[in-house]
Amino acid sequence: MPESDCLFCKIRDGLIPAKVVYQDEDCLAFEDINPQAPTHVLFIPRRHIPTVNDITAEDREVVGSLYIGAAKLARERGFADTGYRVVMNTQRDAGQTVFHIHLHLLAGRPLHWPPG
Ligand code: AMP
Repeated sequence: MPESDCLFCKIRDGLIPAKVVYQDEDCLAFEDINPQAPTHVLFIPRRHIPTVNDITAEDREVVGSLYIGAAKLARERGFADTGYRVVMNTQRDAGQTVFHIHLHLLAGRPLHWPPG
């Protein structure tokens, strides 16, 4: 899929509205439109990377920034000690629906394991 058709690239570029809650030079985070927990935020790299399969060594810092951002927001929202989940769905069987990698941050309720 070309970057111009990517939903999350459009959010990154301000063409589709989203409630942005965090950003740095490599990543952007916004509230999920269909939250599965009281906190459900998506951390995306500014750079278009379709799936985890496409991450290269060059993306090391960019991918790291997603986790650093998620941990920072989780701490700010008071979940550092109570707990939270970060997860990146990859391809069909994992339920990936948007092909621009995104780290889900879920928190604010007990999260069951295994996740279904
Ligand atoms: P995944 O199924 O892992 O690919 O996750 C895609 C996520 O994007 C889902 O949790 C959707 O609810 C969310 N989503 C889809 N469209 C939007 C949007 N316009 N703004 C915010 N989140 C969205």
